[in-house]
Amino acid sequence: MLDIKNLHVKLEEEDKQILKGVDLSVEAGKVHAIMGPNGSGKSTLSYVLSGRDGYEVTEGSATLDGEDLLELEPEERAALGVFLAFQYPVEIPGVGNMTFLRTATNAQRKARGEEELSASDFLKLVRERAKALKIDADMLKRPVNVGFSGGEKKRNEILQMAMLEPKMCILDETDSGLDVDAMKLVADGVNALRDADRAFLVITHYQRLLDHIKPDVVHIMADGRIVKTGGPELALEVENNGYGDILAEVQ
Ligand code: ADP
Ligand code: MG
Ligand code: MG
Repeated sequence: MLDIKNLHVKLEEEDKQILKGVDLSVEAGKVHAIMGPNGSGKSTLSYVLSGRDGYEVTEGSATLDGEDLLELEPEERAALGVFLAFQYPVEIPGVGNMTFLRTATNAQRKARGEEELSASDFLKLVRERAKALKIDADMLKRPVNVGFSGGEKKRNEILQMAMLEPKMCILDETDSGLDVDAMKLVADGVNALRDADRAFLVITHYQRLLDHIKPDVVHIMADGRIVKTGGPELALEVENNGYGDILAEVQ
């Protein structure tokens, strides 16, 4: 589904190379995790895939089902089914959460060639999915993420994902700042969406999220590259020994 080859990315503003040849293939139906020390380029990878400004691809490619993502505007990527749950979710003052969710959900359905949801069907669905994430009615009425706690923002990102039903879900440290109960809610939200036609890229610092979202493949990223790939046991190795041994081994 997602195919990244030899991706090199630098900052637009300064001459700083951040991604230095990322190779990654994520197949439909799979969950891939990316772990790695702070500053290794994990967020940059997710931003570049979603089309955020400020980065320049200097070499390599990224395709989704064969379509060149890097040529597309962020909203075109979203229409193709790329979704990024942000490490730092943005507040949108003046836009009600419910209105935002409804507009985005219907736009996504339209992009997939599906019918829009009626007002009552949408309401039913959003309430059901919000309830599963313990997001109360009040949070649905407020402006998007404004005044939400860190944990509420992260759960709201997962609610967006659950409503949009994207094909390629990228989660950037959605677990950071969450207590164990909130992390379980997030994991349950992800697991409910696991499907043969959908893939996940889960970026995390901590193995504990991966106790709840069992990854098929774990990658270690360091200094702008994927330096090691393995199964779930790789996450346990990181948890027990840190990154030191792995980095020493690949240098
Ligand atoms: P990670 O998510 O793995 O912690 P990031 O992708 O956030 O890593 O950052 C990778 C490196 O790029 C870091 O050294 C970071 O400081 C740098 N970087 C990323 N974006 C910017 C930016 N807009 N301006 C300056 N440095 C940046
Ligand atoms: Mg970081
Ligand atoms: Mg990051």
